[in-house]
Amino acid sequence: MRTLLTGGAGYIGSHTAIAMIEAGHEVAVVDNYYNSSPEAIRRVEQITGKKIALYEADSADKDRMREILAKERPDCIIHFAGLKAVGESVAKPVEYYRNNIDTTLTLLECMKELGLTNFVFSSSATVYGEDNIPPFTETMPKGACTNPYGWTKWMQEQILRDAAFASEKEDSKLSVVLLRYFNPVGAHESGLIGEDPQGIPNNLMPYISQVAVRRRDHLTVFGDDYDTPDGTCRRDYIHVMDLAEGHVAAAEYAVNNKGTEVFNLGTGNPYSVLDMVKAFSNACGHPVKYEIGPRRAGDVQDSWANADKAKEVLGWEAKRGIDEICRDAWNWQSHNPNGYDK
Ligand code: NAD
Ligand code: UDP
Repeated sequence: MRTLLTGGAGYIGSHTAIAMIEAGHEVAVVDNYYNSSPEAIRRVEQITGKKIALYEADSADKDRMREILAKERPDCIIHFAGLKAVGESVAKPVEYYRNNIDTTLTLLECMKELGLTNFVFSSSATVYGEDNIPPFTETMPKGACTNPYGWTKWMQEQILRDAAFASEKEDSKLSVVLLRYFNPVGAHESGLIGEDPQGIPNNLMPYISQVAVRRRDHLTVFGDDYDTPDGTCRRDYIHVMDLAEGHVAAAEYAVNNKGTEVFNLGTGNPYSVLDMVKAFSNACGHPVKYEIGPRRAGDVQDSWANADKAKEVLGWEAKRGIDEICRDAWNWQSHNPNGYDK
């Protein structure tokens, strides 16, 4: 299968490129390097020994995307491109709505013009909102999001669903797979690629990694007074290579089906913030320094997946646990203390 990965130079896209190539598929990548570097793709080529068609372009630019898609004619588009920082989205909502929603609309318009039909979308568990109780199942109603980033995912899901529904009456029937990621973490086993956030990390695992490598003094744990066994929030941390392999299964599903299908990509196992600090301390061989701070606004106490549907329908399940996650994150961070140095 020929695949085109928008945002493919980013964290999840670059790992998915490896999984796709390892499964025997061809990969082309479009990225504007807003939050990434072409170095990630160079390293994917080094790991896989395969050449990747790499386009520097904005996925919202219709003329460029029409040209690229007409040339590549992918069997499946996997749409990772997007802005993803929750806090920044509160400060810059218009930029978030413009970039994230425009990219999806542009791709849908180009697909229609070119008769391309299969689409996999990077959605998020954030669309379950605050009122559903975990484990989250795909049949639960979507909830209200707590920030503009979440709403962009919520809205893009709806746009894609509506487009697939309308296309049922057309010659080119769309197949849309919405993937709701839980908490992607870790790195490729080689230590050559991994997560490389710009500035101060917002997310737990890159923050812990940077404390472990002594780029930062200590982690602040956001609240230890939640109603959980150790008082800290619980999440479903999924190894990025498990997530990447989930995309292979999803793309293969997309090309063989029509309509819209939604899948959680999670492990089904919740771990607390302090569980992750402990597992990382074991992996790096020294204690990760932390202090307890106040709760972070907008945090939900608990979030984890019911991962049954992906297993039953896609034949996919996460295989790696938190020890592998921390081992691989540490391998990447300790060999690349400043990330890609972009
Ligand atoms: P990332 O920032 O590493 O990757 C996104 C990539 O998209 C970057 O390389 C960026 O340069 C590119 N990009 C952004 N806007 C673009 C545009 N208009 N045109 C072309 N390229 C553009 O993020 P990631 O963690 O790899 O996330 C990938 C996708 O998964 C995003 O849509 C994100 O919202 C979603 N997601 C991520 C997480 C997570 O925790 N990492 C969780 C749920 C969903
Ligand atoms: N967290 C923390 N300190 C940090 C970053 C995150 O205690 O510096 C906590 C956060 O409150 C949440 C968990 O770690 O309970 C996961 O946070 P992350 O931002 O990685 O993911 P999300 O909240 O989006 O699921």
